[in-house]
Amino acid sequence: MKAQDICREKSAELFEKAKNYFPGGVNSPVRAFKSVYGTPLFIERGDKAHLWDADGNEFIDFCCSWGPLILGHNNPQIREAVEAQLGKGLSFGAPTALENELADLIISNNKYIEKIRFVSSGTEAVMSAIRLARGYTKRDKIVKFEGCYHGHSDSLLVKAGSGLVTFGETSSAGVPKAFADETIVIGLNDKAALEQVFVDFKDQIAAVIIEGVPANNGLLIQDKEYIQFLRDITASNGSLLIFDEVITGFRLGFEGAAKYYDIQPDILTYGKIIGGGMPVGAYGASAEIMGHISPDGGVYQAGTLSGNPVAMAAGIAALSILAQPGFYEKLESTTQAFVEELRGFIADNDLVVKIFTIGSIFWFAFTAQENIQTAAQIDPASMEKYKIMHRELLNRGVYFGPSGYEVGFISAAHTKEDLQTALAVIKDSLLVAF
Ligand code: PLP
Repeated sequence: MKAQDICREKSAELFEKAKNYFPGGVNSPVRAFKSVYGTPLFIERGDKAHLWDADGNEFIDFCCSWGPLILGHNNPQIREAVEAQLGKGLSFGAPTALENELADLIISNNKYIEKIRFVSSGTEAVMSAIRLARGYTKRDKIVKFEGCYHGHSDSLLVKAGSGLVTFGETSSAGVPKAFADETIVIGLNDKAALEQVFVDFKDQIAAVIIEGVPANNGLLIQDKEYIQFLRDITASNGSLLIFDEVITGFRLGFEGAAKYYDIQPDILTYGKIIGGGMPVGAYGASAEIMGHISPDGGVYQAGTLSGNPVAMAAGIAALSILAQPGFYEKLESTTQAFVEELRGFIADNDLVVKIFTIGSIFWFAFTAQENIQTAAQIDPASMEKYKIMHRELLNRGVYFGPSGYEVGFISAAHTKEDLQTALAVIKDSLLVAF
């Protein structure tokens, strides 16, 4: 049975005001709730796995700020670290010991990178990684995969996942044709297409970039054998392989997707979790490749707020917790149990929906297909079911991302009680959707 709609009066008022200031009333498009029911919820505060909106509604949060909050909201260690730094200054534009500390924590626990550069977002990290690949190989073209999102820099906004497909587009206006021409887009899991690209553009491909596990257009889990194929074909053609680990880094384990596949990419990019909820991105590679970055090398990249001390303090606090033995095993087994319970319910009720999962990431696909590995396999019409489910979830106190193309995350702050409550809500909401 449908639940009664929650009160969104204050959120609606704030949204009307916001439209006077921001395009679409938001500072990032998917937040506008365009493809789900109702006005976007304006959030007032979060604690552990819970969120409260401006109308006082409480939710169990599975969006987790789109991934960064693997430790939930208002984690005491992160908060204390940030508070301790606040009294010392917010930004110096000069090196600090905190940058060394975070870099050391990452590099000494990650065998896939020898040097790292901190920036302030995932977009900056990937944009810089692409420039590095081009500068290093002295080639211009890059290959990306349909549905993979790598941030909003020009070269990468071509067939780029959730934010765009949610609005019925695949590529952004405003990207010069000359830039788009340097970006070759092919489908995931299509070896022949990539082989052909390397024939057609011999000695022109600087890099192939893939999300560690594509998770921006549904959750498109690739076979290890395909990722190995990417490793081999790039190496044999003198191109670099970039893993964009902005979602998967520190999520699928401290060493992300590289460790999950046990494959060494040439450049890795990070964001989201790395800053403990503050704006931090990073890219890393071997010392040899990173030696091409300015001031040692000729590839320029800079940032006024890069390595910001408050953000570094948050990152150190967060990653120190994640580096503890057993952290990921526990989170993953919690997620497995959660997903298995739902799968059982779905089977018992003959519902046409699948839950794909890896690590502590999950995605609901309203499909009968056993396997979805490419963007083309997702039926846009199936998003109608998500829209109904999303409304029910919110009305019953569970917060999922406002698009059916988005994945959900479980954090270490989700308690057994939170998950039991959420399971009951999700089951009821699924029944309403069918
Ligand atoms: N790369 C991936 C895989 C992402 O998921 C995102 C953001 O969702 C980005 C890059 C861009 O990161 P940011 O939004 O921090 O600029």
